[in-house]
Amino acid sequence: MNAPRDEIRTTSRSGCLLCRSEGKMLYLDLVDSLFQAPGIWHLRECDNAGCGLIWLDPAPIEADLPLLYQKYFFSHRSRGFSPGFLPRLRSILYRAYKLAAYLPSVLFGLHLAQRRMRSLFLDDLTPGKLLDVGCGDGTFLHRMQTRGWSVSGLDFDAQAIESAKNPIRPKASSRRLAKRPFPR
Ligand SMILES: [Zn+2]
Repeated sequence: MNAPRDEIRTTSRSGCLLCRSEGKMLYLDLVDSLFQAPGIWHLRECDNAGCGLIWLDPAPIEADLPLLYQKYFFSHRSRGFSPGFLPRLRSILYRAYKLAAYLPSVLFGLHLAQRRMRSLFLDDLTPGKLLDVGCGDGTFLHRMQTRGWSVSGLDFDAQAIESAKNPIRPKASSRRLAKRPFPR
C-alpha cells in the first residue's frame, strides 16, 4: 500500500449544495482525530433555517475523496492478517473496558443511547427505504436490515463493497451516486 498522502486538493464551497443559500462559518481549524485524514478543515452551516445542511469549506475535490479514507479503509483491508502486538493489546484492553463499563451503562441508561446511536437515531421511525452513501463494508446496512429496513448502499471503494457479507453485498454498489437511479 502506498504511504498516506499528506495533502488533499480542495475547492471553495461557500454556498449550500441543497438550497443554494449562503452558509455561515460554524467551526474552524478541525482535524480528523479518528482516522487521521490529512488537513485542517472548516465546517460551514446553511443560512436557511429550513435547510440546516452543514458542509466542508473548502471541500476536497472529488478526485481526492479516497485520500480522506486511507487509514479507515486500511483497517478493513487488514482483516485476515495477524495483527501486531500493540493492536492486539489495544483490542484486549478495549474489550476489558467494555465489560467493566457494561453494568454502569445499564444503570445510567447509557446503553439505550448507544443503541440509538448505532441506528443513527432512526430507531423511532417506521422502517422504510434506507440509502447509505459511504456504506463501507455494509455493517450499518446489515444492522438496519435486521431491524426491518429495505437497504441500499454506495461506496467509491470497490474493495470495501467486496468485503461486505451476504446478504448485504448484492445491495451495495461502488458506482457514483449521480449515476444511480435514485429519486431526487
Ligand atoms: Zn441549504
